[in-house]
Amino acid sequence: MNHKDVISMSVDDVIESMNKIKIDHTKNLTAKHFDTKYFLSLNANQQERMKKIIATGIVNPDSSMGCYAMSGSDYDDFRPFFESLIRDYHDISSDTKISQAHDWSTDMSCDLRAIDQKLKDVSMRVRVARNVKGFPLPGAMNREDRIKLEEVMIKAFKSLIEDSNYGGKYLSLTPSSNYEISDTEFKNRVVAHQMFKDMSGDRYLNAANISSDWPYGRGMYISEKEDFIVWVGEEDHLRIMSMKKGSDLSGMFAFLAKGLIQIEAKIPGFAESADFGYVTSCPTNLGGGMRASLHIKLPYLTKNGKDLDGIKAIAKAKGLAVRGAAGEHSDAGNDGLVDVSPSARLGVTEKTVMQKLYTGIQDLWEMEKARKGWSID
Ligand code: ADP
Ligand code: MG
Repeated sequence: MNHKDVISMSVDDVIESMNKIKIDHTKNLTAKHFDTKYFLSLNANQQERMKKIIATGIVNPDSSMGCYAMSGSDYDDFRPFFESLIRDYHDISSDTKISQAHDWSTDMSCDLRAIDQKLKDVSMRVRVARNVKGFPLPGAMNREDRIKLEEVMIKAFKSLIEDSNYGGKYLSLTPSSNYEISDTEFKNRVVAHQMFKDMSGDRYLNAANISSDWPYGRGMYISEKEDFIVWVGEEDHLRIMSMKKGSDLSGMFAFLAKGLIQIEAKIPGFAESADFGYVTSCPTNLGGGMRASLHIKLPYLTKNGKDLDGIKAIAKAKGLAVRGAAGEHSDAGNDGLVDVSPSARLGVTEKTVMQKLYTGIQDLWEMEKARKGWSID
């Protein structure tokens, strides 16, 4: 079953399928918040739009989210569905108004060495998800849209390339682009965690049409020192990130903030919703769109990487998400290497996300030390 199969399903079949998933896969948030009465209250055109949004959750009943927005206005147009799902995922109670404030001030110290001197050379990354105004979201783009977006971005990157703080170059996956890189270079950059994976192998993205036309319109800008990267054409139009080995989380955050302003000045602007903040394909990324992560070895808490579910549960109680170090849906390494990041993105400012990562790591590190009787090496 794929995206097209869902689109050709009848209204009754969609309802039947959602209600079955509701029972068989209780973690699928789309099925959980799918309301038959609401779906039936929509007109035919709106039902067609909803089918595209929820297709991935039908094709992949094991999804934890199960939907992707297709246009910047989906969150507001289908608010009854999205609001209850968003409140659930982002843990916002029904008596709290959903809103997003921003705070990029960097007057905090989040140096990991203050937690432990051993945390001096950690792989740190902070990224924001952004979509460019005037384009459909990735799941609704055709090949032409994807190539056009890449062209807009190649122009925008010129100002970074000419700035000595950034420099660097643009690398494209689009066949016969002037900036095209070889398959070997692409693969090496994926292994180096710089470039995103071949999306055509991702069943969640495939079912949402997000990976269509691969590899057209896909590429990345990378700075001279390889510490500032912008992905073009992945799950969102843009993933703008800073990535470094070190311990100074706040310094990396400041560097991202500067580059982000420079990019925004060169494009038509980022898609935003009045209440939900920056619009992103996946509801998990709404709000600030920011995910700040560390790659850190936690062999005791992960039982040598064999118990990813165990550490996920521990981390969840602390407002943190854990995934494998090769990215979402990957496993933990044998050495216990995992990716830890605060889960909340909506209703929390950018600065708060950084601080949550810092205090969260402090907690997990204490637990890891306690479990092993303390002799970390
Ligand atoms: P996101 O959705 O935030 O972009 P993914 O889980 O899809 O994150 O991972 C994307 C890539 O970024 C993967 O190659 C992953 O290994 C890499 N990555 C994430 N966090 C870090 C980190 N702290 N250090 C190095 N690489 C990272
Ligand atoms: Mg991802």
